[in-house]
Amino acid sequence: MTIEYIPTGSFGNADVLSRLIQNHAKPESEYIVASIELEQDLRSVAVNALLTFPIRFRDIELYTQQDPSLQKVYKYVRDGWPRDVAYGTDLARLYDRRESLTNVDGCILFGERVVIPEKLRNRCLNQLHRGHPGMQRMKAVARSYVYWPKLDDDIARYVASCEACAAAAKSPPRATSMAWPKPSAVWNRVHIDYAGPWEGVYFLVVVDAYSKWPEIVKTTSTTTTATITILRNLFARFGMPATLVSDNGTQFVSGPFKEFCQHNGIEHITTAPFHPQSNGQAERFVDTLKRSLRKIRTEESKLDEDLELFLMTYRSTPNAQLEQQRSPAEEMFGRRIRTALELLRPPSSCEESSPSSSISSVRRFHRSDTVWAKYFSNNSWKWIPGEIVRSCGRVMFEIVAEDGRLLRRHVNQLRRRVGNGSSPSSSATP
Ligand SMILES: [Zn+2]
Repeated sequence: MTIEYIPTGSFGNADVLSRLIQNHAKPESEYIVASIELEQDLRSVAVNALLTFPIRFRDIELYTQQDPSLQKVYKYVRDGWPRDVAYGTDLARLYDRRESLTNVDGCILFGERVVIPEKLRNRCLNQLHRGHPGMQRMKAVARSYVYWPKLDDDIARYVASCEACAAAAKSPPRATSMAWPKPSAVWNRVHIDYAGPWEGVYFLVVVDAYSKWPEIVKTTSTTTTATITILRNLFARFGMPATLVSDNGTQFVSGPFKEFCQHNGIEHITTAPFHPQSNGQAERFVDTLKRSLRKIRTEESKLDEDLELFLMTYRSTPNAQLEQQRSPAEEMFGRRIRTALELLRPPSSCEESSPSSSISSVRRFHRSDTVWAKYFSNNSWKWIPGEIVRSCGRVMFEIVAEDGRLLRRHVNQLRRRVGNGSSPSSSATP
């Protein structure tokens, strides 16, 4: 947007304000132009800063209230979906998902995912693309936090138009190597490899085969002594692995390295290059690292910060090689690590909220708990009796109704049922 300065005197119909200005001494016109430009600059800085801030749940609430079509959905979720209405494309998609939609604090949730109003979608895509995770990973992250009709299409279009991603596109996969057996536990078998030198430094890359949890340690020396120092530090944190896999690099085949492994009860396996059972875990990871850094690096950015951004993204992103697409962090620690994306969640389901928050205490259901579940049919809903089968996620539960039907419901669609009392409140009709 460009704003031109037009001297107030040149307006045909000068308003009150400009007449007032005219009564004062006119400042130099160049001075005015300069100050307008400065104001413009400041405004664009402020706007950009706002755009790069993570979206918070409250922002979504605000924009949901200003979004006419989401306001309709909000009303339908509360009062029931009218039946004889021709829904537009977006509304029709939400209509198809109506049984999993709930209203929480002014926002609409689809399962555990918050529905993003149209005006926030681009900002949301920017945020999901931080660290250039690639299309599949970006979709996977999006699916655990946000929803809107055609989300996948928008992601595909967004990634296709990212120049950094296109420049670092993956080369076709190499012939598949023989797979290592899946280790039995976290940090049981660890793969190591050196990468670099990039910008004058080397990186010892360490990948846990079970969780895919990566560590990258920057070093100027790749000798046996330097390698042992790094590994000792890592093993102090995570424990000794049972097996350590590396290639035949001189630092790995030396006497002192062999001794280090023997003393710590580590079986050291070295793989020859082109060996069918190669050190693929670490090599593949180095490949991902290289591609990601190429995308993240800019002339102003610091290598350390770029590495940390990459690690944070990789560790917290659902991984296709892990069961149920869990993230390396979830496999490693049994919990998600907190990222700025957590701000998208309703405040009541945030871990740091008060201990009496609705989900942690009141709305905690266990197997065999008797409940009332919201049941939707046609254009209304009612409460039907049922029993909790299991929880799926933090706020979704599987329920078996008394007639044997299996339902998935959000906590907000469930009420505790005591004895054989009548339903907790009346059903709804629009
Ligand atoms: Zn990108």
